[in-house]
Amino acid sequence: MSKAKTVAIIGAGPVGLAAAAHVLERGLTPIVLEAGSHVGHSVRQWGHVQMFSPWEYNIDRAAARLLASTGWNSPEPEHYPTGAELAERYLQPLAAKIGLASHVHTSSRVTDISRVGFDKLKTTGREAAPFEIRYQNGRGPTSVRADAVIDASGTWHSPNPAGANGLRAIGEAQSADRIAYGMPDVLGKDRARYAGKTVAVLGTGHSAVGTLTDLARLATQSPETKPVWLLRGNDPAKAFGGGANDKLTARGELGAAFAALVAAGRIQVESEFRVSHLAADGPRLTVNAGSACCGRQVVVDQLIVATGFRPELEFLRELRIQLDPAIECPVALASLIDPNEHSCGTVRPHGARELAQAEPGFYFAGMKSYGRAPTFLMLTGYEQVRSIAADIAGDREAAERVELVLPETGVCNRSGAPDAGNCCGGPAISDVDACCADDANAKQQGKTGCGCAS
Ligand SMILES: Cc1cc2nc3c(=O)[nH]c(=O)nc-3n(C[C@H](O)[C@H](O)[C@H](O)COP(=O)(O)OP(=O)(O)OC[C@H]3O[C@@H](n4cnc5c(N)ncnc54)[C@H](O)[C@@H]3O)c2cc1C
Repeated sequence: MSKAKTVAIIGAGPVGLAAAAHVLERGLTPIVLEAGSHVGHSVRQWGHVQMFSPWEYNIDRAAARLLASTGWNSPEPEHYPTGAELAERYLQPLAAKIGLASHVHTSSRVTDISRVGFDKLKTTGREAAPFEIRYQNGRGPTSVRADAVIDASGTWHSPNPAGANGLRAIGEAQSADRIAYGMPDVLGKDRARYAGKTVAVLGTGHSAVGTLTDLARLATQSPETKPVWLLRGNDPAKAFGGGANDKLTARGELGAAFAALVAAGRIQVESEFRVSHLAADGPRLTVNAGSACCGRQVVVDQLIVATGFRPELEFLRELRIQLDPAIECPVALASLIDPNEHSCGTVRPHGARELAQAEPGFYFAGMKSYGRAPTFLMLTGYEQVRSIAADIAGDREAAERVELVLPETGVCNRSGAPDAGNCCGGPAISDVDACCADDANAKQQGKTGCGCAS
């Protein structure tokens, strides 16, 4: 039997709402607090983007069970939704239909969390005290109590800045009117801002690749448009992904299409470009690498910073939180997702045990649980919250069970010691010229390999 009856869930994104579905199924009471005016607030900001995972990977199983009982028209499993479709066809019905409506509070931004009667320093009796979650709902600060908290607030609202050192570049704040972060809709509602302009995109992840691809398309319609790709590393090919080896076909195709645009010279590439200074130059923007006066520079009309995201931690200040110093994710998760180590996408399934904190009853989930690591998939988050809800309900066996196989990226960059299970079927045996087991198998069958660098 569960001791924790009420579970506060921060964020009504895909993972927060899935958490609510699992909590409901367990007979517990969710209280979902969402900063935006609608559920899926962050997803709606990138509503124009077509997802690289099809519907079958985007729907949580507990959520689907609850929706099915209301006669929900489930989407075609093999179709790829946009962010807007994900919000409208799945998240919105989920929040509205399944008895969740009364548990979801929109326009409610969580600002602080503590334990009733206990500041961070006080230990004795701490774990028996309920959590106190303070939030702003437009009528001033208010608070709610809960026996457990799942922080599924994502990272979308705290993008990394332009500076190569992780700080804002000098002049970045002053040039804010020429800079956008994340993935602006360059072919749609933001078109006027970018059509016919020289636009630099900084970054190497899916957001940068997708935006540059869209800018190249915009250039075919508005020929003065010039996409410029700024990347810190020296090897553009690292952004091209696993191509045909990627188990998520659309993700592989996006990288392959981008590689073709770069090869055709339709995107100006500036590699080893580490942004340090930004300066308004009339209506234009000078982007400097290294120094304000004498290093490399490009002059553009607009800059799009797509250098990833970092977790917002300030509202957790009064809780006992321990994070990996580099990735800012729960410590037990770090070695599984560290992009310095590998990029296969084959993260070992993990749940409550890895996501719990020294603060009993508090868990990270979803995009936020990955801290600064870039490879999060919704499917991972759904498995996380299944396990967390089981843990809160006291079902240890279900909390420990592993129920997830993730699609691999087809790229298998590894460094350091081989770690079976981390990389494309685990490491290859040592006397074979291959980077991992899948690569070795592919070569044995006369194929070129699995996409690993070998
Ligand atoms: C452009 C893009 C494309 C992606 N495509 C895919 C894909 O194809 N497949 C895939 O598996 N993954 C994809 N992802 C990665 C990831 O699955 C998504 O980002 C997903 O939305 C993460 O879900 P989440 O619920 O953890 O966080 P979010 O969707 O970010 O939701 C968090 C919610 O918390 C709210 N919030 C934030 N702070 C507070 C606060 N203080 N108080 C209350 N509420 C708060 C936010 O408003 C938001 O609604 C993509 C990501 C991006 C950015």
